[in-house]
Amino acid sequence: MHPTLRIAVKCDRCVERQAAGEEPACVGACPTHALEFGDEDDLAKEKRLSAAARVAHAVSGSAEKQTANSSLDTLRSLRGL
Ligand code: SF4
Repeated sequence: MHPTLRIAVKCDRCVERQAAGEEPACVGACPTHALEFGDEDDLAKEKRLSAAARVAHAVSGSAEKQTANSSLDTLRSLRGL
């Protein structure tokens, strides 16, 4: 929002909020968490770990939690995570 014209303007990545250590307003407001904000490498790592956990869980089944954790540890070590 332009401060004096009071109209919507092009996205500025919420520079004021970021300067204050806050995430962009749209990221915080999204009810389905469709938006994420942060270091791209960190976000990519989280996505890989989440996908690996889902695969390990699907392969081993929920009754095999220990096996799933072992599978996840194996995936992490293979990917250097
Ligand atoms: S709320 Fe989102 S779209 Fe709007 S200015 Fe901030 S970062 Fe850009």
